[in-house]
Amino acid sequence: MTPRRLPFMSLVPGEDAAAVRQAIDRVIARGWFVLGPEVDAFEREFAAAAGAARAVGVGTGTDAIALILRGLGIGAGDEVITSPLSAAYSALAIMMAGARPVFADIDPDRLTIDPERVAALVGPRTKAILPVHLYGQAADMAAIARVAARFNLAVVEDCCQAHLSTAGGRPVGTIGVAGAFSFYPTKNLGALGDGGAIVTNDSALADRIARLRNGGQTDRYHHQEFGINSRLDEVQAAILRARLPLLPAWTARRRALAARYRERLAGAPVSVPPERDAGHVYHLFVVRSGARAELQAHLAARGIETLIHYPVSIPRQPALAATGPADCPVATQACAEVVSLPLHPALGVEQVDDVAAAIHAFADKGTGPVPS
Ligand SMILES: *Cc1c(COP(=O)(O)O)cnc(C)c1O
Repeated sequence: MTPRRLPFMSLVPGEDAAAVRQAIDRVIARGWFVLGPEVDAFEREFAAAAGAARAVGVGTGTDAIALILRGLGIGAGDEVITSPLSAAYSALAIMMAGARPVFADIDPDRLTIDPERVAALVGPRTKAILPVHLYGQAADMAAIARVAARFNLAVVEDCCQAHLSTAGGRPVGTIGVAGAFSFYPTKNLGALGDGGAIVTNDSALADRIARLRNGGQTDRYHHQEFGINSRLDEVQAAILRARLPLLPAWTARRRALAARYRERLAGAPVSVPPERDAGHVYHLFVVRSGARAELQAHLAARGIETLIHYPVSIPRQPALAATGPADCPVATQACAEVVSLPLHPALGVEQVDDVAAAIHAFADKGTGPVPS
């Protein structure tokens, strides 16, 4: 078997290319580039798609998290409990808001924050829980909501990998007080550059965040409070509007490809974590291997590109050294074993079959014929 090169993903627009170009041209012709009609319309359309009353467009997913925390009045002296297994930006956003991230270890099956560990870490300074809906699968929101209610904490959802995902049938981002989304190009809904949004059913919070993203301005050149400059721009909003109608079909495609992987990987020498919620949107398809480096090399030799999300847990990042020690052995173990296989809406079923066959061949190494 000599498969063609199979990159992890391609960011060149495909079926959406014409709509994306039209969107860009529309903005250029209008000559209005920041906080204009495209952002207004996208905020309404994205809120509807996310099942929320309001959405506010911002510069990045990281800023979305930080702005929610600031909008809730969380900052210096406060602690926010979050997951050690995520993009480091989840925790960096907590630090940008001035608060301290505290890491609760993950559930070994689901790889999202363990609600019992969260409860054990609540202290007098704890103000919020920031669960991360990792790889497209919601955290255990029912249990997290119980912990939050018991200790009177806000729940802020990191939905950056979970566009259209649901937890027990409820849209992510609407279960806690607010949700943060990223439109970084690789996300399930991506822009051609950076972008982000917050969603919430609390319209006072949405109004406050809309001010904070724009320098804290109330009226032009009147700054009521210390805001930042983090605005979704008109070109990105127009591109996102062109893509949003395609997102349900793209999500269905991701789910179908994931089901195919599960079927084809039966008996393969990797562990495939169970799907814990039917609302999983498969931002990534992640398996585990005790011989990950060898498996990645084996796949690379067959032209199959894989990535690791994530090789280092957040509390072990040097950038986090000042936040204090964290006891997260389950996350550390996951970081040594997880490997993400190619999965995106433009991928073919045959390619999934090729990847699965290549993984099966990894088991045969040494016993079967040496693959050429
Ligand atoms: C991408 C991502 C972020 C950061 O989003 P940006 O738009 O890149 O700032 C935060 N959390 C998670 C889980 C992410 O995947």
